[in-house]
Amino acid sequence: MACLWEHPWTSRRRLIRFRDRKLRFLIHHAYANVPFYRRRFEAAGVRPEDIRSAADLARLPLTAKQEVRTAAAQEILARGIDEKRLVLHYTTGSTGEPARVRRTKVEEHLLQMFRVRALGMLGRRVRDRSAKVRSSGVPTDRRSWDGRSLQDRLGIFPWREVSCLQPIEAMARELAQYAPDVLSGYAGVLTEVAALWGRMPGERPGPRLVFTGGEVLTPAMRAAIRDGFRAPVFDIYGSHEFNLLAWECAETGAYHVCDDNVIVEVIKDGRPAAPGESGELVATGLHSYAAPFIRYSLGDIVTLEAETCRCGLPFQTIREVRGRTMDYCVLPDGRKMHHWELIPMSFWDMPWHRRYQLVQQATDCFVLFVIPTQPPPEGDLERLQAAVMEKAGQNVNFQVECVSEILFGEGGKHRLCRSEIGRGGGA
Ligand SMILES: [Zn+2]
Repeated sequence: MACLWEHPWTSRRRLIRFRDRKLRFLIHHAYANVPFYRRRFEAAGVRPEDIRSAADLARLPLTAKQEVRTAAAQEILARGIDEKRLVLHYTTGSTGEPARVRRTKVEEHLLQMFRVRALGMLGRRVRDRSAKVRSSGVPTDRRSWDGRSLQDRLGIFPWREVSCLQPIEAMARELAQYAPDVLSGYAGVLTEVAALWGRMPGERPGPRLVFTGGEVLTPAMRAAIRDGFRAPVFDIYGSHEFNLLAWECAETGAYHVCDDNVIVEVIKDGRPAAPGESGELVATGLHSYAAPFIRYSLGDIVTLEAETCRCGLPFQTIREVRGRTMDYCVLPDGRKMHHWELIPMSFWDMPWHRRYQLVQQATDCFVLFVIPTQPPPEGDLERLQAAVMEKAGQNVNFQVECVSEILFGEGGKHRLCRSEIGRGGGA
């Protein structure tokens, strides 16, 4: 715990030494105590002592979400762990199939500390009141967490939850009443509240800091949230499996990988990505012993960046957390394209919209639903249309439709891209 607070000011070399030492512990533990991993290591012909540092991880096979999801509890849990005493997170994940993440309470507290550290580095103070806009009581959230967190027990970082499942107006009223110093929540929901915030009657103090997480924060959403609340916006990248993976640097806008909590690899076509290249994020949790996650594919697309951040902190950096691999579209000619490739970058610089959703209604039919903030300037829609057709091919039908509302999905989450093929038009 103590070294956790020193790491941001230590050298890269010392941070790596800590990380690799934790990795060796974890690998020995998983081999000795977790049948699921022991079998995988043996099948790969790898002995625990072969894994000395993060670079050696490539010798182990990747772990797919599906494999963990379908494995029996006694396979995935470490020997001697009493399942009933674990904290259980349910996550619906991108495919809608529930997965379970299990941790001991000590692990739960420790992982939470990395988040506390990151938010503190971004300016959150001990006495700040936080509003967390989110949804408990739906399958995406934790259950069976009987105790309050360590912070609650210590009486620091006071917070309250504001349900993101209520209408935007009710959410905004509740937030105005609570007047939090720090606001956090899904980017999509906060975008809508921010749009309303400035138009509400009367003067009200806005939050000093806004943290987004759980979804992709597009440049347009970021601008809408920042301008609506008149507060800086920082994106926090985490997952149920690892808690904090990376957080945005206030100076450079890159994401600092939480190197002392996770080992992050970026894999492109089965090999490690080079700096500047995008690929799928694979993570190994250094402090999860009850049910380890080793070389676990989260299904997120990120761009690998420099070894350490330009701000001087010793953390590895990534950029452009592009969200899920499910945000890929399959074009009629069979090409698979992330929707960020299909929709040209010039769209991000068009300041007339705040939120969008690309819906593939049929194999050859795409509709981009857009919530405009002002009428689009003449020619913008035509240019967008032409650019998409050029990427997708002329036999694709692409339309832009301006709407006043885009409904949120399960748990109040905003999806940037969804397909209605084979779903009978359902969401
Ligand atoms: Zn930095």
